[in-house]
Amino acid sequence: MAKKDQSQENNLLKDIIAHAKEYGFVYPSSEIYDGLQAVYDYGPYGVELKNNLKRVWWESMTRLHENIVGLDAAIFMHPTTWKASGHVDSFNDPMVDNKDSKKRYRADVLIEEKAAQYENAGDIDRAKSLLSAMGKLMEAEDFAALRELLINEEISCPISGTTNWTEIRQFNLMFSTQVGSVADESSTIYLRPETAQGIFVNFLNVQKTARMKIPFGIAQIGKAFRNEIVARQFIFRMREFEQMEMQYFVRPGSELEWYKAWASIRMKWHEALGIPVEKLRRHDHEKLAHYANAALDIEYEFPFGYKEVEGIHSRTDFDLKSHQEYSRKKQQYFDPEINQNYIPYVIETSIGADRLFLMTLCNAYVEEEVEGKQRTYLKFHPALAPVKAAILPLTKKDGLPEKAREIVEELKYDFNIIYEDAASIGKRYTRQDLIGTPFCIAVDHQTLEDNTVTIRHRDTTEQERLPISELHHKLGEACSFRNIVKHLA
Ligand code: ATP
Repeated sequence: MAKKDQSQENNLLKDIIAHAKEYGFVYPSSEIYDGLQAVYDYGPYGVELKNNLKRVWWESMTRLHENIVGLDAAIFMHPTTWKASGHVDSFNDPMVDNKDSKKRYRADVLIEEKAAQYENAGDIDRAKSLLSAMGKLMEAEDFAALRELLINEEISCPISGTTNWTEIRQFNLMFSTQVGSVADESSTIYLRPETAQGIFVNFLNVQKTARMKIPFGIAQIGKAFRNEIVARQFIFRMREFEQMEMQYFVRPGSELEWYKAWASIRMKWHEALGIPVEKLRRHDHEKLAHYANAALDIEYEFPFGYKEVEGIHSRTDFDLKSHQEYSRKKQQYFDPEINQNYIPYVIETSIGADRLFLMTLCNAYVEEEVEGKQRTYLKFHPALAPVKAAILPLTKKDGLPEKAREIVEELKYDFNIIYEDAASIGKRYTRQDLIGTPFCIAVDHQTLEDNTVTIRHRDTTEQERLPISELHHKLGEACSFRNIVKHLA
C-alpha cells in the first residue's frame, strides 16, 4: 500500500473536528474556560448519533442473542474490586518527560510510533524486533533499559527534537476520590476504569435471577474513566468515555472456540454498519495482558492510521477467581449437563462508544466537487443518522407551513424530524447535508392540490414525488435498525 501523505491526513482530521463542532456534534468540554483536556461534550446531533450507535450495539447483543441479557451497574464500586481485578497494582502506563520541551509522553506509544515508521518504510523485521524488545522490557518492568531503548533508537520529542528524556515512571490511570465526609485512606474509592468489573461482581445475581445457562452473556453500556497520560486525537483518547462491553461466560476448555466465534461476529457487525472491509483490520496481540490467553483488536483506518476500535479478549477465569478469593464468596456455576461445579471462563467484547462515533463520523464525511462547487455531506446509514427527515415548506405563506406541520405531526412520534422554513430551499438542503439527514421533504403548491411531496435523497441529490400517505412507510423501511442487523442473522 502506498504511504499516505501525513499532512493531508492531519488536515482531514482537522476538518472533521471543525465540522463536528460547527454543526453540533462534539464540543470541547467547558469551552468558555478554554476547555478541559481530553474531555468532550456531545451536541444536539452528536447525542442523537451516539444514542443510535449505542442502540444498535445493545439490540445486536440483547435481541439477536437470546442468551445475552443487559445490566447497568454503578460507576462507584467497592474499592476491593480494583485490588482483585489487578487495577490498583498494575493498571499503569510508562510515563516519560522531555526535559527540553517539558512535554509528557507514554514511552510505549513513542516506541510504537517508531515501529510504525519502520513498517511504513517497509522494514517489517525491524518494526517487529523493536516491538518485541519493548514488550520484554515492559514485562520485566525494566524502565532504565526502556529509556535506553528510546535513546538508542533516536526517538526524539516531536516538539524539542531532542532525546533528553527523564527517567520513566509508572503512572496509575485510575482516578480516585473520597466517599463520605471524612477523608482517610479507607474512604478512597475509584471511578471505574472499565465497565467489565460491574458485570463480574454481578455474575451470580444475573445468572440466578435471569435463570441463565452457560454459555450466556451480560451486556452493559456505561461511562469509564482513565487518567490518560497523553490525550490526543480528539475523542479517540478521552479521560471520560463510554464503553460497551459484553462478557460471555463459557465452559472451561471451550473458550478459544468462543473467542474465534466472537471475533468473527464482531467483525461482521462493523461491516454491517457500513464500514468498508478494506478500512478494517484485525490485530492479534502477541503480548497478552495478565488475565488473557488470547486477545485481538479490531482496528479502523482513521485519518491518523490504523487504531483500535474494539478489543476481543479471552479473559480466562482470572476475574471471577480473583473476586472469589478477595470476597470469599463462591463464584461458581453448577453445570447440569456435565454435573459439575466450575468457575466459568470469559470472552469479552469491548468497544468504546466514542471511538465508534469517531469511526462512523470519519467514514461518513464526504467532500466532493459538483460542477466546480465543493459539496460536503455526512453519508450516515439512515438508521444511524441523527435526523431522519427535514420537512421544508417551499415558502412561508399560502398555507404551506401548516401543511408541512401536519406532516411533522404524523412522523414525529416514530422519527427524529426537523421542520425548517427559513432561507432558500437550496440553503436548507445544504444544511441538512452537513448534519447527514438522509431525506429532505419539500412541501409546495402541488402538495395542497394532490397531497404529494418531493423527497430529496442526500447521497445522490435526486428527487422523487411521493404521496404523503407513503412517507411513514418509506422512512420506516429506510431507517429501521433491521437494515443493519439483518446482515448479522
Ligand atoms: P488503548 O490501547 O487504545 O489505550 P486499551 O487497549 O487500553 O486501548 P481496552 O482497555 O481494551 O483499551 O478498552 C476497550 C475499548 O474501550 C477500546 O477498544 C476503546 O474503544 C475504548 N477505550 C479505551 N480507552 C479509551 C479512551 N481513553 N478514550 C476513549 N475510548 C477508550
